[in-house]
Amino acid sequence: MRSIILILLSIIIASNLTAQTYSWPILPYPSGKRVTSGYCAYRPAYNSIVEHFHEGIDIPEETDPLCHVYPTTLAYKVIKIYTLGPDNNLMVKVIHYSDDTSSALSEGSKYIHLKEVLENIYEDSIYIGDPISAATDLYLDHLHFEYRTPSDLANSNNPFAITELQIEDNTAPTLCSLYVDYSRQGDAEVACWEYLGSNFAQYYGTVTGGGYTFLKLGLPMETPWNDWDDPHFIISGNRKVRFIIKMYDASISAPYNYYLVVDTAIVDLSGGSYESDAHYQVKFDGLLSSEYHREETVYHQEEPIVSGWNSQYYRLYPYGTMPSCIIKRLALATENLEEGQHRIRVMVKDYNGNTKTADVHFYIREHDWVDYCRGFKN
Ligand SMILES: [Zn+2]
Repeated sequence: MRSIILILLSIIIASNLTAQTYSWPILPYPSGKRVTSGYCAYRPAYNSIVEHFHEGIDIPEETDPLCHVYPTTLAYKVIKIYTLGPDNNLMVKVIHYSDDTSSALSEGSKYIHLKEVLENIYEDSIYIGDPISAATDLYLDHLHFEYRTPSDLANSNNPFAITELQIEDNTAPTLCSLYVDYSRQGDAEVACWEYLGSNFAQYYGTVTGGGYTFLKLGLPMETPWNDWDDPHFIISGNRKVRFIIKMYDASISAPYNYYLVVDTAIVDLSGGSYESDAHYQVKFDGLLSSEYHREETVYHQEEPIVSGWNSQYYRLYPYGTMPSCIIKRLALATENLEEGQHRIRVMVKDYNGNTKTADVHFYIREHDWVDYCRGFKN
């Protein structure tokens, strides 16, 4: 019996060696965990700051004027304390440690907009369970928090990847429009498809951006198995198009993180279940330091292209060339699809599992329509 106890004890000790505890970095938070700006949100240029992606989340202070700011891991080492821009705007950068401080993790975090740091918090020191700032208010009433890897903390990650940092969210993301680039990186002729005498013109429009005109297909409210309220359009000529999806998650209070799948397959007119390999999967999980973080740069380098025509920012490009956010499984090369009817299914899911789908139908036309009536006339 004694040996069993010893074994159990040693297992517990062994597991404690590598355990780390995460928690919300502001106390108290009487309204629950909330954010006022999400990860990867697009920030247009203002004053002297160039346009960029938001590399963290903004957490409001809830008890004006006093709150405590704790590093999100129980044990941490302070790497750097900076003073930024305006008065009383401090940034603290830490490396995360296992709870017993026996091992440094290959991750860390940054805490920005602090007005003060506790007197006994020093660079190069390791702490367990101590706040870095106590009974303070915050510059602009919020903490800007960044979760970073690897050990040099060069790359930012979506904090919602950590369970303890996820917030409550019961709202599915919104799918707005599917843009079709047929003349910039694409090369095709496009037209509205009046399929079986139905009029889909209400979902069919155009928008001009950067000197190029794109199709703008509306994505109406979700009715997954009704094809008659979906956009329909025709691709002909050289048949190469690029798609841009415009979507967002529930305003500012939800995880700004999705995966997105664009599917295409011959439509199953029997209405059976629709299973197909994903062509693109998008995850707003991280930004590499090698990325420019600038919309236009990404737009010019990668395809399909990026849309930033509104306050929200969305992007879709193949995995490999810009590896931070995309998992590419197959190329969706419309120019190689066979003649006939196809469907794209767009699916978007947030960290809490809320999902939205939308369908777009298109007809690949390689040859002129055959006029059977006239053909049989003679
Ligand atoms: Zn921020």
